[in-house]
Amino acid sequence: MRIEIATLFPEMCEAYLSESIIGRARKSGAIEVHCHNIRDYTLDKHRRVDDKPFGGGMGMVMQAEPIYRCWQAVCEQIGQRPHTIYLSPQGRTLTQARAVELSHESSLFLLCGHYEGVDQRVIDKIVDEEISIGDYVLTGGELPALVLTDAIARMCGGVLPAAIAFEEESHFSGLLEYPQYTRPEVWEGMNVPEVLMSGHHMNIARWRREESLRVTREKRPDLLEK
Ligand code: SAM
Repeated sequence: MRIEIATLFPEMCEAYLSESIIGRARKSGAIEVHCHNIRDYTLDKHRRVDDKPFGGGMGMVMQAEPIYRCWQAVCEQIGQRPHTIYLSPQGRTLTQARAVELSHESSLFLLCGHYEGVDQRVIDKIVDEEISIGDYVLTGGELPALVLTDAIARMCGGVLPAAIAFEEESHFSGLLEYPQYTRPEVWEGMNVPEVLMSGHHMNIARWRREESLRVTREKRPDLLEK
């Protein structure tokens, strides 16, 4: 899996992508993530990548040409047309199921907007789908692109120690996960549930399943209805 992130702020993305599980997965080669600075593709002598909106109004709009040139360069570099996603508050809301589907793509191109957004013509020309991370508006597409990259990367082989690590987690099977505990056994007078200390695998599995249902019923009854 190869993820290409097109942004005006590659350092912002690199800071997150170089750490922890994703950072290690990149180092080991389990996933490839590359950040591209859209500004490197402008033909403007002042390196401008945005301009005022036609029709008037507040803010600036990212120009089509530098984005298109960046996308073309990536297509050439990787020898294929990547599945192209524009992170946008107008897109379909990201779900675990969509992250799993996207983890099967061989390459993804994630376009991060900024300011008032992106000239519609480049969206019409290169974008296959728009994805939102929720019904609110952020200043840029970098955090959404990182959220999407993280959600997809952990579904790729070799990123987490084993598939079990995500299969039991919230949303994978449609339920929320059971409560987790770690040392010490007693903390602030509160004990770890006895069954978890029993070493009895079947009882532990049954307890976890029941707790998973209870937690889902309490916190997200809408998931059970689905
Ligand atoms: N003017 C746009 C609108 O009203 O639809 C919003 C532009 S927003 C201020 C700037 C950029 O942030 C967008 O182009 C998009 O890339 C990103 N963005 C903001 N909120 C987002 C969200 N909820 N999900 C995904 N991307 C988002």
